[in-house]
Amino acid sequence: MSDHWIAERTRCFDASGIRRVFELGAKLTDRIDLSIGQPHFDVPEKVRKAAIEAIESRKNGYALSQGMPVLRDKLQRRIDEQYSHDDREVFVTSGTSGGLVLAMLVLVNPGDEVIVFDPCFVMYDALAGVVGGKVVSVDTYPDFHIDLDRVAAAITGRTKAIVFNSPNNPTGAVASREEVRGLAELAARHDIVLISDEIYRDFCHDGPFVSPAAFNPNTLVVDGFSKSYGMPGWRLGFAHGPAAIIQEMIKLQQYSFVCAPHPMQWAGAVAMDVDMSAQFEEYRKKRDMLVDGLAEHYELPRPGGAFYAFPRVPWGTGTQFVEKAITEHQLLIIPGNIFSSRDTHFRISYAAEDSVIQRGIEVLNQLATEGP
Ligand code: PMP
Repeated sequence: MSDHWIAERTRCFDASGIRRVFELGAKLTDRIDLSIGQPHFDVPEKVRKAAIEAIESRKNGYALSQGMPVLRDKLQRRIDEQYSHDDREVFVTSGTSGGLVLAMLVLVNPGDEVIVFDPCFVMYDALAGVVGGKVVSVDTYPDFHIDLDRVAAAITGRTKAIVFNSPNNPTGAVASREEVRGLAELAARHDIVLISDEIYRDFCHDGPFVSPAAFNPNTLVVDGFSKSYGMPGWRLGFAHGPAAIIQEMIKLQQYSFVCAPHPMQWAGAVAMDVDMSAQFEEYRKKRDMLVDGLAEHYELPRPGGAFYAFPRVPWGTGTQFVEKAITEHQLLIIPGNIFSSRDTHFRISYAAEDSVIQRGIEVLNQLATEGP
């Protein structure tokens, strides 16, 4: 095979950092795993049964590209109740990731600038690059909140989109109502598409979730079932926004993903009526346990949501600190430079049993005091 067979666009992503963490982790026999980006709770029984029932009743053929009415209509009703936007349409995607891929393909022309916040979920830069966009990063250190002046300063005549994510992966930060409103209005004023990744919407520990769609009817929302119902392997998501964008995304879905998994759509419709508040409440307690446990030795603003915390390392770089945590203490965490241009922080996921979080806290405090 010749090297030139591989397209240039594959250079837009580098998965070597995260691969190294998993390689190191794979060798551990008694690991303390605080690296996982998925809930530790399982899909509710009623929803599992609905999936089995869908398979057994032979709902195994292709689904409609836009999603089966059983789920799509239910989502549409819920979104209409929430926003009452005349032009807001929803369709079913292969996970939130599927929605993000289609959004980038539909919106970003080669050379268009896409604003992302630093740190952010790894997929945004990679996908913007794959479609030929130029990534423009807006720094959110040290408290991971959105500085609207910095965003305004990053906007140029070529800015096409802003990708926003609250509650945030990897920081756990939840943008305030004022930040969300400010960002939504800024995007509208500059005629820029605001893409809002709302996958952690249900994990808001200190107040109600606020979407920029409430202030800017042209916001494109990507969302999904993976985190809220503990079903990341089921690949079920949805996207909603201006009908013209959604129609183009559906067209592309027909030529790429084809449809979201058919039986899971029936189960997703059942999931929408299941109360998961006990699980979300449990995660709020885990957040407090972690933040309180690290308060003495770590610089860590209390994250308002998702199931991540993003403390500053007490010594060395993020990479050095994480390497020692893994190799000497069997503690699996993720270095911040996976999500950021800086190598100064690390991500902890508290989607784990309390006993595991407790062991993690002990190791982290020991690491801080013993130094490199
Ligand atoms: N957005 C963010 C911010 C995420 O953290 C993730 C999953 N880690 C995704 C999107 C993708 O989720 P899904 O399983 O729905 O594709």
